[in-house]
Amino acid sequence: MNSLLRTDIKYLKGIGPKRAELLDKELGIKTYYDLLHHFPNHYLDRSQIYRVADLSGDMPYVQLKGRFVTFTTQGEGAKRRRVGLFSDGSATMEVVWFNRIREITNLYQVGNEYILFGKPTQFNGRWSMVHPEVDTTTSVSAVKGMRGVYPLTEKLRNNSINSRTIFTYVQTLLSNLRTVNDPLPAEIIERYRLIGALEAIKIIHNPQSKDDLDKARFRLKFEELFFLQLNIQRYSRRRSRVLNGVKFPRIGRFFNSFYHDQLPFELTGAQKKVIKEIRADMATGRQMNRLLQGDVGSGKTLVALLCMLIALDNGTQACLMAPTEILATQHYETLSKLVAPIGVNVKLLTGSTRKKQRDIIDEQLKDGSLHILVGTHAVIEDRVQFRNLGFVVIDEQHRFGVVQRARLWAKNSVPPHVLVMTATPIPRTLAMTVYGDLDVSVIDELPPGRKPIQTLLRYEDRRFEVYQSIGAQLRAGRQAYIVYPLIQENEKLDLKSLEEGYETIKETFPSYRVAFVHGKMKPQQKDYQMGLFVNHEADILVSTTVIEVGVNVPNATTMVIENAERFGLSQLHQLRGRVGRGEGQSYCILMTKHEIARETRQRLELMTSTTDGFIIAEADLKMRGPGDLEGTMQSGIAFNLNIANLATDGQIVQLARDAADEFLDSDPDISLPSHRITSLMLSAIFDRKIDFSLIS
Ligand code: ADP
Ligand code: MG
Repeated sequence: MNSLLRTDIKYLKGIGPKRAELLDKELGIKTYYDLLHHFPNHYLDRSQIYRVADLSGDMPYVQLKGRFVTFTTQGEGAKRRRVGLFSDGSATMEVVWFNRIREITNLYQVGNEYILFGKPTQFNGRWSMVHPEVDTTTSVSAVKGMRGVYPLTEKLRNNSINSRTIFTYVQTLLSNLRTVNDPLPAEIIERYRLIGALEAIKIIHNPQSKDDLDKARFRLKFEELFFLQLNIQRYSRRRSRVLNGVKFPRIGRFFNSFYHDQLPFELTGAQKKVIKEIRADMATGRQMNRLLQGDVGSGKTLVALLCMLIALDNGTQACLMAPTEILATQHYETLSKLVAPIGVNVKLLTGSTRKKQRDIIDEQLKDGSLHILVGTHAVIEDRVQFRNLGFVVIDEQHRFGVVQRARLWAKNSVPPHVLVMTATPIPRTLAMTVYGDLDVSVIDELPPGRKPIQTLLRYEDRRFEVYQSIGAQLRAGRQAYIVYPLIQENEKLDLKSLEEGYETIKETFPSYRVAFVHGKMKPQQKDYQMGLFVNHEADILVSTTVIEVGVNVPNATTMVIENAERFGLSQLHQLRGRVGRGEGQSYCILMTKHEIARETRQRLELMTSTTDGFIIAEADLKMRGPGDLEGTMQSGIAFNLNIANLATDGQIVQLARDAADEFLDSDPDISLPSHRITSLMLSAIFDRKIDFSLIS
């Protein structure tokens, strides 16, 4: 395996330096190993030959068998092309080459039988195929089974590297390869009944049956996920051995007096459970890194506060960081009101904190009289120095990755405990992968008395009715959000529709006050407008998705989302969470134009049928694929899955995780001689510059 990993692809027969460069640039294939791991993305049955007469519009790739009737060279300059008229007895089709014209002229003859492989396209009612792969019938009948179709780029095709070429390279390489050292440990191969590495690679490139292919795929997916899990787990294990946390053995004055005298309501069972988990963690002396997931409105803030109070009881300071100034301010106001009676000193630090106030904060942080610092990213700037920081809460930022977390460690000689809170539910398989280094707590219960939000899908033709129902809510003293999409590609147009929307709303509801926010505003202006709505000096807030995270206005009971079809499911869920935060019945109205695609309608209908964030997140992952889900790079496990799919291979993720766990139990440092190849492979895949064991 090791020499495969190192041997440059240019040394393979038929490749050479020029093609090697192209393969690297276009597909990232640098070494023999990379080539063997460039897998087909789908397969065709080689025995399946289509007839030209039977072609239809939706066929991706087909095989045809027949003869060329004539060849001509047409056009001039850039339009020059070689055109062959191909007939299989059922009909004729044009086959076109735009380059390599001289070569093609010599290569293919009228009258010989060929098998063409390519994507048929229709033009003016006639079928044609551009740059197909062409095989003589004799060369094809020699290879049986299924034919792999490799992912390629246009540039490669133009340089006559097609699926067939890749196949040939792979076969050349495989024919010279007698054994490979299996990167998976023998005991794992046996326990999970996997086929060997070489066998799997041979099959995946040239399967003889569907059964074989399934076995090969399983083995290769397992391998990929196993290494991913191994990487995550070895770091989290090492970290837990190396990094001691501040030990919080005590529950004391702050916690007790708040819990017994100030608690505004009875905690939900889920809140209690989570606080217990966190407490247990903080009492061990191991540094805690915990992800707290809880749907919008589930009461994460109170959990954070109670944990911060435990930190104070043990003589340390705490800090809460929020993604925006508005949110930080809101947290600051909530928290300072709650803890004022028990004598806890809370301060707010953001980008717009005045110098004089900053100086006070700096001083109190240093002498320890400031207990809780709430703020934006400003709190992790290097100049912010605590006397003894024991506990950090990061709110609504599941994107807060390992590198950012690392900056927090530097703030104390012993790294503080970290609680990352998010309302964006992360599907289990993804959490296991991306957040494998975090422990997870879930608040799976809403405070009592909440009425589930009613979600309605409405087309443009019912706009009047929608406005009437907003009117009814406003008359009852409630507030409403109206959200417009703002999409980068066409900012000007989007902004125009937002501004028009704002004008329309003002005209439609002349006796109500309307606030207006979008991301392009100056921060002060934004905060001012937002503040109007938060303080009920405005009844309606017209905005873009800037209100997405965390804002808490319990009196707002209606949310209208314009052009809902332009939002992803998770984003809709986040937005919807801005209502339903008080005791009033809340509504979320998804507005769309009439003609939307079927999948889009299904997506929106899912929103109307459930408010369960986990169901929505799973569906989102299935529809969009994990590639869209941010945070993978930032959370410190940059990876590119080659064959496994986090959305659909959840079961294999679980198996691979268990396997990695057992493996590390048996050989924590991966130092046994029998695990040498596994260890080499692990460092080859995850060749990192930073020692994540110390910072994650
Ligand atoms: P989120 O989890 O979305 O951050 P918050 O912490 O903002 O939720 O809480 C949402 C609302 O629920 C707040 O107004 C908060 O005061 C209230 N709340 C929190 N816990 C409880 C509880 N146990 N019982 C009743 N209301 C609660
Ligand atoms: Mg919150």
